Amino acid sequence: MGADYDILILGAGPAGLTAGVYAARARRSVLILDTATVGGQTVLTEKVANYPGVAETSGRALSQTMAGQARAFGCEITPFARLRSVDLVSEVKSVTLANDRRITARAVIVATGGVPRQLGVDNEERFVGRGISFCATCDGEFFTDRPIAVVGGGNSALEEAVSLSQYASRITVIHEFDHFQAEPWIVAEARANEKIDLLMNQRVLGFVGDAGLAGVRSRDKASGEVVETAVDGCFVFVGYVPNSAPFADQLTLSERGEVLTDDALRTSQLGVFAAGDVRQTRVRQITTAVADGTVAALSALDYLNEDVT
Ligand SMILES: Cc1cc2nc3c(=O)[nH]c(=O)nc-3n(C[C@H](O)[C@H](O)[C@H](O)COP(=O)(O)OP(=O)(O)OC[C@H]3O[C@@H](n4cnc5c(N)ncnc54)[C@H](O)[C@@H]3O)c2cc1C
Repeated sequence: MGADYDILILGAGPAGLTAGVYAARARRSVLILDTATVGGQTVLTEKVANYPGVAETSGRALSQTMAGQARAFGCEITPFARLRSVDLVSEVKSVTLANDRRITARAVIVATGGVPRQLGVDNEERFVGRGISFCATCDGEFFTDRPIAVVGGGNSALEEAVSLSQYASRITVIHEFDHFQAEPWIVAEARANEKIDLLMNQRVLGFVGDAGLAGVRSRDKASGEVVETAVDGCFVFVGYVPNSAPFADQLTLSERGEVLTDDALRTSQLGVFAAGDVRQTRVRQITTAVADGTVAALSALDYLNEDVT
């Protein structure tokens, strides 16, 4: 089965880069294509303090080191690739670029990650990473003894609010409706937590501050009153969007658009594997993405070794 590369990896975040290290070190020809810059979501993280073995670093520095390692083993990495279409169904997989160049591979690892759903309100972009966070595990500690808000009313919002109470001095949960979508046990836990205030029926209008975040503006949906909650940080948990749209008609996805895999990270398509935040998984962290990259690469190598055509 002739192809340009043994393994094509889509996505140069921690999952894709790790898969690149393992696959290239096994002396397979490997290309990583990314539609944006190298590093994925880690480039949004100024401080990574929970990657074991590295006391503290920036997300960008960590991913540059991973990319350097992958390249040292012979892996090619092309950022800012303009993909027109992807064929994961044929025996030889392929992508076609905007300039009509077609690249073929014997196996593909989908490591296209995802993005936290944003509120789309005033000043949100400006304060992401400067007070606004989408990850309590990553950033909670930075708000020790400081007031914060949590936006959302599902399980993750309330679970993270309770977990953030170990750090923050005060937590205001701001929710759009007058009832929670979360399960009763976590609603009860949040209500019982003395550090947590619940601000219900509020539509978030935007964020205020100068150099750093100073508050969240919201409107009471019943009275129309505009409320400003003074906080140093705001954690937004209003959902997650996996970058799986280009594969929606070729791979089996969950109802939330996550790629479904088995425990060897095989997808519904023979020769196609998925790793990291794009797949259905409970925890989305750099450590879990690199673990997935390892498993997906080793499974892809097994697939190539078994293939006698
Ligand atoms: C603000 C923020 C802070 C965080 N802080 C931490 C932290 O401190 N510690 C921690 O452990 N985790 C943190 N996380 C989570 C962590 O960054 C992610 O879990 C991790 O980056 C997931 O890695 P990934 O490789 O699966 O996906 P991603 O990092 O999302 O990388 C996916 C890559 O695929 C590319 N891509 C998308 N579509 C395509 C396509 N069709 N073709 C080719 N490429 C494509 C994207 O451009 C991207 O580069 C944070 C997340 C955010 C948003």
